[in-house]
Amino acid sequence: MEQIHTCAICGKNSFSVYLESSDYFLSKEKFTIVTCDNCEFLFLNPRPDAVEISNYYKSEEYISHSNTKRGVINKVYHIVRKRNHKNKYNLIQTIKRKGTLLDIGCATGEFLNYCKNNGWKVMGIEPDEDAQKFAKTQYNLDVFPESLLNEAPANKFDVISMWHVLEHVHLLEPRIEQIKTYLQNDGVAIIAVPNAACKDAEIYKEFWAGYDLPRHLYHFTQKSILELFKKNEFTLIETIPMKFDSYYISMLSEKYKTGKGNLVKAFLNGYISNRWAKGNNNNYSSLIFVLKKNSGK
Ligand SMILES: [Zn+2]
Repeated sequence: MEQIHTCAICGKNSFSVYLESSDYFLSKEKFTIVTCDNCEFLFLNPRPDAVEISNYYKSEEYISHSNTKRGVINKVYHIVRKRNHKNKYNLIQTIKRKGTLLDIGCATGEFLNYCKNNGWKVMGIEPDEDAQKFAKTQYNLDVFPESLLNEAPANKFDVISMWHVLEHVHLLEPRIEQIKTYLQNDGVAIIAVPNAACKDAEIYKEFWAGYDLPRHLYHFTQKSILELFKKNEFTLIETIPMKFDSYYISMLSEKYKTGKGNLVKAFLNGYISNRWAKGNNNNYSSLIFVLKKNSGK
């Protein structure tokens, strides 16, 4: 385990305990989320280091990386995911009609394949070797390990996307530097993350599936994302809600809290969360941030 001594957003070093919770998904170990006393950034501390963290992904049911269709939650996940590809593609269309796209954390490559089939030039980064292999053989995609990002880019990209990936990245600032290096001048980064300031997080508390400890190292809010990207010379263009996530996250949270599905209750809480967000500064369960790289960098 590694102890964090410096806030990744503001650089200060005084933190308080925010919440104690467990890895409900896999190890059942206990973990602590702290809040920065200066800027309120929420993060896991202490945390498994970059090597240890791989132990917490070792499950055949970690559905981001597999295509198993067992169980109701998995079924919903796959339906939502399919619909999401089209929504994500439509969003990219509003930035540019055709261009080049790098998806960091592309998993098994379904979204990239969708964009490729619609005329985009695409490339992926994926640390999981099995997922990488699947994307290459199944869809004939160019997918590389994370180490590629340390090299100078052969081509720069119009759009770089990270769909629920940034919260898994150990070193935030070096990653944002890499995004900057791989983006064209005036290129756009699309960053989707769970929102720790949403109503379903308040309802489920330590059982909120959006915490996903210890795989999620950071628990972003609109405030922390804006501060992080502003100091790295990006400008926010737009914030877009992911309204299906409140339902999916509530379903998982119900399971963690009660051991049962409780689909009706989960659906109700998902609905309550979305309704609340509408009148509360767009604090939906998950948010997509569209950020433009300031030119000349
Ligand atoms: Zn801070």
